[in-house]
Amino acid sequence: MDRVPQRIDHNVKRMIWRIGSSEDPLYLDVKAEPFAEVGECFSSVKKKIRTDGGSLQLGWEIWQIPDIMIEAEFHAVWKSPDGELVDITPKKYQIDRILFVPDSKARYYGARRRNKRLNISGNRLVDDFIEICDARYRLLNKGGRTYKDAVLFSDEECEIHEKLSYSKSLVSTMVVRGAKRSSPCPCGSGKEYRHCHGNILAELLDMI
Ligand SMILES: [Zn+2]
Repeated sequence: MDRVPQRIDHNVKRMIWRIGSSEDPLYLDVKAEPFAEVGECFSSVKKKIRTDGGSLQLGWEIWQIPDIMIEAEFHAVWKSPDGELVDITPKKYQIDRILFVPDSKARYYGARRRNKRLNISGNRLVDDFIEICDARYRLLNKGGRTYKDAVLFSDEECEIHEKLSYSKSLVSTMVVRGAKRSSPCPCGSGKEYRHCHGNILAELLDMI
């Protein structure tokens, strides 16, 4: 489950460095507007500006799975006419505040942006998890798809997507349990993960 980092530790700082923004991270209150929908920050902020003025601030929401991974998600918040930043988009989970890194150099052209992820665990299985997330993103956003809500896959892409989804749930189960690449593969083959679904993953990644 995604969680808001409680403090700006060195791993959060590493992520901010990777984002490349020179602006300071801030904790922002979440005050969800009734018209806003989960994941629809850009359109929601624009709607807010039409009624209440202010402007749109781009940046990155920072999440962590403690001791496993830091994740940055491209995000828009509302800047009030007084200059206060407020997150008006509701979340999947009930949270009161987010950690936000303003990125005034960033631009939004209607395309989705890939989440940035950092392995903070020293467990190479987490790298596999990140590769799976990136591969799914590449598949879903190939060509002009990135501007569309509905995605039409070819039969081959459909098969790859299903296999990636299976690998994602398999690897995330392992990561949460503290398993390693040399642990038994949870698929039940009796082989180590690295010789089983770890191999299958490498082949899948070559196909995308
Ligand atoms: Zn397996």
